[in-house]
Amino acid sequence: MKTEEFNLLEFQKKFSTENACEKYLFQKRWPEGFKCPICEYTEYYYISTRKLYECKECGHQTSITAGTIMHRSKLKLTIWFWTLYLVTNDKRGCSALSISQMFDLNYRTAWRLLHKIRHAMAERDSNYNLSNFIEMDDAYFGAPCPNTDGRGTSKTKVAIALSTDEKGNPLYARMKVIEAVTSNEIKNFANECVENGSKITTDGHSSYRQLKEDYIHQYQNYYETNDTEFLKWLHIIISNAKAYISGTYHGLEEKNLQSYLDEFCYRFNRRFNTKQLFGRVLNACISGKPYVVPE
Ligand SMILES: [Zn+2]
Repeated sequence: MKTEEFNLLEFQKKFSTENACEKYLFQKRWPEGFKCPICEYTEYYYISTRKLYECKECGHQTSITAGTIMHRSKLKLTIWFWTLYLVTNDKRGCSALSISQMFDLNYRTAWRLLHKIRHAMAERDSNYNLSNFIEMDDAYFGAPCPNTDGRGTSKTKVAIALSTDEKGNPLYARMKVIEAVTSNEIKNFANECVENGSKITTDGHSSYRQLKEDYIHQYQNYYETNDTEFLKWLHIIISNAKAYISGTYHGLEEKNLQSYLDEFCYRFNRRFNTKQLFGRVLNACISGKPYVVPE
């Protein structure tokens, strides 16, 4: 199914009311018509006062958002839709503060809304493995701490993998907060997101050596060779991720870093199809399972 594209005026016109959003969601969720989540019967009564769909066969009542990322959300669908639109149409993303101000929401409510959206994005990306040519490295996120640079730092450690084409042009990225740059953490990260047998290029740090068990591992000590082209794209993407996070989400807590990295990667991985992002993230929210944001 083709993902629709909207400019601002089209969006505003199409999704100006709760009913319009509900109708759209209905088509996305049940493209072949209503299907009871319990018995799969296709006829229903619509209880308009409570916006519920009651199965004519088994009597089960369900809402349009039940079982999705929007499950039991008290927010209006228009707010969900507009937030998705804003998040996907500004490549810097949206902060909870700006969403709370725009829609007169409590800050925590806006914060949880954005976290649910990021969770849906992360779930989507976790369905895809990187393959073929991979560059991998680790980086440090957080406020600069003098005298603690390098791998012994107290900043948050992040492992990054980037798939490229044969010529080394970037394709897809994944990032994960890790406790420390150890063989185990690196191996687990690779196993989570890279197809076995892929060719992984890293620097010469010993924590990467175990990758040879599942992958074709090649490494280079770039401190020795001074090759500025080595892992070039990977390093550009790391600095973009840092700029993105400090520009939009300055002062974020370490425990939330993963969700911002997920949003960054989701957006990066779809950078050539930005006009379709709203539709894609909406689909991710519909197919995502209910998610309780940890406080
Ligand atoms: Zn039923």
